[in-house]
Amino acid sequence: MTYINTKVYAGRSKDHMVLMNSSSGGAYTVLSDAFLENGDAVVSAVYNYQTHTTEFKMIHNKQDRDRACGSKYMQSIPGNIFREAYLWIKQHPDKKILFVGMGCQADGFRKYAELMEIRQNVCIVDIVCYGSPSPKLWREYTELLEQRYGGKISYLTFKDKRNGWRSPFAFVRVDGVEIPIGDYVRVFYNQCALRPSCYKCQYAAIDRKTDLTIGDFWHIEETIPDFYDENGCSLFLIHTNQGDALFEKIKGRLEYRVSNKEQCWQINLEMPTTVSEKRETFWADYRKKGIEFVMRKYGVPSLKARVKKKVSAIIKNIHILHIVLGGG
Ligand SMILES: Cc1cc2nc3c(=O)[nH]c(=O)nc-3n(C[C@H](O)[C@H](O)[C@H](O)COP(=O)(O)OP(=O)(O)OC[C@H]3O[C@@H](n4cnc5c(N)ncnc54)[C@H](O)[C@@H]3O)c2cc1C
Repeated sequence: MTYINTKVYAGRSKDHMVLMNSSSGGAYTVLSDAFLENGDAVVSAVYNYQTHTTEFKMIHNKQDRDRACGSKYMQSIPGNIFREAYLWIKQHPDKKILFVGMGCQADGFRKYAELMEIRQNVCIVDIVCYGSPSPKLWREYTELLEQRYGGKISYLTFKDKRNGWRSPFAFVRVDGVEIPIGDYVRVFYNQCALRPSCYKCQYAAIDRKTDLTIGDFWHIEETIPDFYDENGCSLFLIHTNQGDALFEKIKGRLEYRVSNKEQCWQINLEMPTTVSEKRETFWADYRKKGIEFVMRKYGVPSLKARVKKKVSAIIKNIHILHIVLGGG
């Protein structure tokens, strides 16, 4: 494995369905296709609708791979996956594994793979990360929803793109009805609920020890405006010759542009998410008054966000009125 100067690309799947079903530009699906079509395996995090946890699984076909698509905003559980991956490689020494996980998980797997001398058989991809909340918080939230709406959650998305990639719609489906989960998403983003280690994350950097990093290519509408697509764009950071060879292999399935570290900059490529000054109160409230209370108190939009929403609705209505009145 040779480390190279980090190469940067913006890219999105040429397949419209793949793009629409992915959180960013479909990097995960495109990368995993290359492995699955060759009889190789994929390790990534799948949502379990029985336990409401996100768990790492060994994946051997596209149907199972599709179950891992989409961002899940809670810490995922590696379980026994490192050992499972090791045993699979030992049984299939001529095969490879694509491992996809958050920075901390991917680096853990890299160290394990080096120790167990299977590094040459694995390609390790990590994901740019804002941080992960406690899985307990999410589990209690789902219990609350299932109780409130009297049914089981059968579908979850944090990044439905019906309003575009930059304004994702998050919802769960209970008995065929879409229930918005914006309160949980606001709690996720308000810097109170992440695990303590996320605020000290050592992987919030551009240069990393995995083969490749994927994430959202935020602000591409400003940095590479002629490559902007409202349905999303992935960021690819290539760190090793193996990552480089993989990108060369998949680039025919992508619309892509060569980019650089300045264009792709976002805060979590420079430093971890900072801790909110309300964090202590948030957890004290949670311990004393429970999940429903903290969702009501911390999951409401800020005054600024509410004003912004109202103003854009008024502008939209004025625009429609203008069209109706024949103003063009
Ligand atoms: C908690 C979280 C925080 C993120 N923060 C940022 C950020 O700050 N900046 C940024 O650019 N991108 C961030 N991302 C990544 C981004 O949202 C997309 O997940 C990523 O770009 C992959 O999208 P895709 O289009 O390639 O494919 P998708 O089909 O969306 O691929 C999803 C991939 O992510 C994995 N995954 C999803 N949830 C988890 C999880 N909880 N634990 C481990 N693996 C998981 C899946 O197993 C799969 O491999 C975050 C993702 C998560 C889950």
